[in-house]
Amino acid sequence: MTTTADLEQETNPWQAQAARFDLAAHKLNLDEGLWKVLRSPSREIIVHIPVMMDDGHLEVFTGFRVQHSIARGPAKGGLRYAPDVNLDEVRALASWMTWKCAVVNIPFGGAKGGIICDPHKMSQGELERMTRRYTAELFDFIGPEKDVPAPDVNTNEQTMAWIMDTYSMHARQTVTAVVTGKPINIGGSRGRREATGRGVLMVCEQAIKKLHLNRDTTRVIVQGFGNVGSNAARLMAEAGYKVIGIVEVGGGLYKKDGIDMEALWAFRQRNGTIHGFPGAEKYDPAELLLVDCDILIPAATENQITSQNADRVKCKILAEGANGPTTAAADDILSEKKVFVIPDILANAGGVTTSYFEWVQDRQGYFWKESVVNEHLSEIMIAAFDDVVRYADTHGVNNRIAAYMLAIDRVAYTIRQRGIYA
Ligand code: GLU
Repeated sequence: MTTTADLEQETNPWQAQAARFDLAAHKLNLDEGLWKVLRSPSREIIVHIPVMMDDGHLEVFTGFRVQHSIARGPAKGGLRYAPDVNLDEVRALASWMTWKCAVVNIPFGGAKGGIICDPHKMSQGELERMTRRYTAELFDFIGPEKDVPAPDVNTNEQTMAWIMDTYSMHARQTVTAVVTGKPINIGGSRGRREATGRGVLMVCEQAIKKLHLNRDTTRVIVQGFGNVGSNAARLMAEAGYKVIGIVEVGGGLYKKDGIDMEALWAFRQRNGTIHGFPGAEKYDPAELLLVDCDILIPAATENQITSQNADRVKCKILAEGANGPTTAAADDILSEKKVFVIPDILANAGGVTTSYFEWVQDRQGYFWKESVVNEHLSEIMIAAFDDVVRYADTHGVNNRIAAYMLAIDRVAYTIRQRGIYA
């Protein structure tokens, strides 16, 4: 019997990260000292920021920025706005960024930020003032060579533009490379907006090849229709997959022969929501996650596949578009069921990889065509997929632990080379 306390422990993202880290570090025979170094983040910043609200009252918001590691390069990772974001979650997400950047072998460490707020209840002006004050508080800790934020849950290109502008005002010069995921005309990269979804497609292409599946008979269910989920669903459909389900809070969409994704995008464009789309039947979201399919893409938030539902998941491939959608306890169940898991730190790495391209382009002052961006992305995603699958075969572990082992090994190697400054 799983108690509420057990489930709370299982769904704590920091525990979820640490459980996988410990397992992988153990398999690697990582020495005790480095184990301790890599287990905890190197810097945690908490700020309490005053913001003048539209009605004239002063509100104070709590924000975090956690830098897990800068061993392989500047810290890198998104910034999320949510009412329930907390330090443990940000810590876990920062560590995942270190492992993710190492899996795709780009020269960054890992970081993550968060502000406790309900962005859906705030005006643009309030969001702008909050973002600018947060940036000002973090001025000494972020920068192109220090820590480079990016969008995450409930933040977007506009948020990045405010951060870039605030940082630039303090630096007394325009510093585009301080954030990625910016609008294209102020130093953003072509292809960045779709990049995480495109990366998901790229690793799915490799996975179906490995499992000898055909694209046009491969049924896909996507959970979440935000930046990652909507682009993944659209690009998968364009490539010839059958997207049969979209799982969204408040009602899923299901169509056995595949949903017309172009029509769904147009519907959302017109109505601002996918609810009420006439081209599919309405479906209970929790049930839709468990419907028979070939590829399941959780692209929403953490803890969607847990010890409570993992045994009922019916996909052959699980491609994690979100960060931490599967708990450590669910890993064992999925392994037993022989589900081919493409872990988050590989599957959703297309976003940060294209952020890397954006950072490079900003520093070069020379901007690439979208086809060049996508070509470079494909090269990196395919190489990372091959590395992880090979590691899993060689070491007799599942893909997730293989990805962690590969990442930890790369970061540990760098720390050994650099040595410990005393
Ligand atoms: N927030 C995204 C992630 O979790 C992107 C981070 C980035 O581009 O730095 O990977």
